[in-house]
Amino acid sequence: MSNLIRKSVQAMSGYVPGEQPKDADIVKLNTNENPYLPSPDVQDILQMVDIAMLSRYPDPVCLELRKVIAELHGCAVENVFVGNGSDEVLALGIRAFVERDGSVGYFDPSYSLYPILADIEDVEKRPVALTSAFGWDLPKNYDASLFLLTNPNAPTSLKFNRSNVETFAKGFGGVVLIDEAYADFADENCMDLALDNVNVLVARTLSKSYSLAGIRLGYCVGSAELIGAMFKIKDSYNVNYLTQEVARVAVLDQDTMKANVSAIVETRRMVAEKLSEFGFEVSDSQTNFLWVKPLGIGAKPLFDRLRTKNIIVRYFGNDERTKDYLRITIGTAPEMLKFLDTVEEIVNGDF
Ligand SMILES: *Cc1c(COP(=O)(O)O)cnc(C)c1O
Repeated sequence: MSNLIRKSVQAMSGYVPGEQPKDADIVKLNTNENPYLPSPDVQDILQMVDIAMLSRYPDPVCLELRKVIAELHGCAVENVFVGNGSDEVLALGIRAFVERDGSVGYFDPSYSLYPILADIEDVEKRPVALTSAFGWDLPKNYDASLFLLTNPNAPTSLKFNRSNVETFAKGFGGVVLIDEAYADFADENCMDLALDNVNVLVARTLSKSYSLAGIRLGYCVGSAELIGAMFKIKDSYNVNYLTQEVARVAVLDQDTMKANVSAIVETRRMVAEKLSEFGFEVSDSQTNFLWVKPLGIGAKPLFDRLRTKNIIVRYFGNDERTKDYLRITIGTAPEMLKFLDTVEEIVNGDF
């Protein structure tokens, strides 16, 4: 066995995605999916798909989709890369910008996939611990070949101010990839930094705000130089035909995305207020989830009891810094009312 598998692969552990139960009466608040339907144009385009097209390879450079994304952000097609989910975009970033003896930086805690992507490429990890309030305090002379900066951050739901990100990016020697998976739920974003700085990329995904986690489409925007490098090393046909078509019409329909985001932001406000009334500490979320410290009952007991009531949230219990918190995805208003009723019962000791 040990002779057959690369040592770095033997040594690493794989990513463990959040549970995807199929049981219909489960309230699923654990993987930050969008509870609402994607654009109705998605249904239409799927009905219009010519199955003869499926026998052909898709457009390797995804031109029509990239045009729509370029239009949205006011940049050129050469400034847009699309991938099989933003997870692929992140992985290609490491392959394109980190030498074998280079390093990948990221905040801890942030997206738990980053260290695994670094392990896959067998490059050095340089995590930067966030403060106890989950703010950032970079060590003097800190550097890395590539810094993966989740903003707003996950699982903490907090944003780093645009101006701080700008100062950091401008002074940084390597590439800064700002992972803006949740930017549509936030009150500011850093997209302009990707267009004004050669070393900055901003990544987005259709998995959260566009309700399209199932099609796997992520993209990044940046200088033609960095984007060109990613094109060189990608799989020839990394985004399939159906996904290109669905993503194109979904991005064109900004109204549906924004209406869904507004509903989620409104529900988020309501849930945050209620949870604070239970005496929980609730972070100022800029995302489609809440980062909650259930004072009194404690994170693990609340997680376990919610689970027995068929409500699944996310608990990161194996880390000292996150073990007292729960990450709760914002579902539909009825789902969240059920969640709040159940939390109230649990807190009052009614079961
Ligand atoms: C959900 C998420 C992603 C993954 O996006 P996909 O496009 O579904 O691969 C990337 N980064 C962060 C921070 C996320 O929360």
